[in-house]
Amino acid sequence: MRVLVTGGCGFIGSNFIIHMLATHPDMVIVNLDKLTYAGNPANMAGVEKAYGGTRYVFVRGDIGNAELAAHLLTTHKIDAVVNFAAETHVDRSIHDASPFIQTNIVGTQILLETARAVGVPRFVHVSTDEVYGTLGPDGKFSEQTPLAPNSPYSASKAAADMLVRACHETYGYDTVITRCSNNYGPYQFPEKLIPLMISRAKNDEPLPVYGDGQNVRDWIYVLDHCRGVELALLKGRPGGVYNFGGNAEKPNLEVVRTILSALGKPESLIRYVTDRPGHDRRYAMDFTLAGSELGFAPAYDFTRGMAETLAWYEANAAWMEDVKSGAYTRFMTAWYGER
Ligand code: NAD
Repeated sequence: MRVLVTGGCGFIGSNFIIHMLATHPDMVIVNLDKLTYAGNPANMAGVEKAYGGTRYVFVRGDIGNAELAAHLLTTHKIDAVVNFAAETHVDRSIHDASPFIQTNIVGTQILLETARAVGVPRFVHVSTDEVYGTLGPDGKFSEQTPLAPNSPYSASKAAADMLVRACHETYGYDTVITRCSNNYGPYQFPEKLIPLMISRAKNDEPLPVYGDGQNVRDWIYVLDHCRGVELALLKGRPGGVYNFGGNAEKPNLEVVRTILSALGKPESLIRYVTDRPGHDRRYAMDFTLAGSELGFAPAYDFTRGMAETLAWYEANAAWMEDVKSGAYTRFMTAWYGER
């Protein structure tokens, strides 16, 4: 199978490519990534060494470039697209939504239409639980839950989901949408909660926690998400939508305390900061459908996943320092200040 993976130098895309090349000896992957601030070619150094030029090809480019997409899809005889490429940080979307509209909506539509036009058999679109909005203390999101996004990021992802759905309904194109809860694990950019807290705690810097710290997220180890996308790619029903989750609902404060305790750092590093506008209170996923149709089940519980994650960041301190470049530091300082 020959797969075009987009956003493969980001957090989940990197883990997906590493996993797929290691477990499918006959698979060829073309990675199309624009290399925004979140894209890090260093994530692919091992893959380049092992498979570069044979089973792995990297191309720097934008999913919104129809000409480039058509060229790659046809010359590499692509069997399926897996679309991870996106602007992904909610805080950045509150600051400026335009790149989110451009990549997540317009870019996805261009890639989708190009793939359909040149006859790529399958298009897998990677989406998020955030499209469903927020939950009260009870209940879970199912695939039937109406979309009710609350941030510019989740609105842009929901719009893309609708375009992918419409493409299936209108043209009968073979699309699959996956919606997953919050990921954590190796190669995650340190603006997201878990690597941000690991990085700041290690350096004895204050840990900014939004509001009362009681916003609940369902956490999934990234490899479990990658296995879910793999199943969707190989076994998903045309037009199917699948939720994935980790069965690990945690308030943010509990996650932060777990990290501090694992690193032997004091809770006095915690700083409560003004809540994020429109901050969703709780997410939880019902992934029964993915279990019954695809055989999906998360293999990592939160304790094991966090142990693997902490060990990876410990062993890859240089990666973290490289990633914390000038552009990243400027945004984080502007956003969180020195609190
Ligand atoms: P990320 O921000 O770490 O990586 C995004 C990647 O996309 C980067 O490599 C970036 O360079 C690339 N990219 C951005 N714009 C592009 C464009 N126009 N053309 C080509 N490449 C472009 O993101 P992530 O956390 O790995 O998320 C990947 C996907 O999974 C996203 O679609 C996201 O919405 C979805 N998702 C993420 C989570 C999570 O917890 N991180 C949960 C559910 C779903």
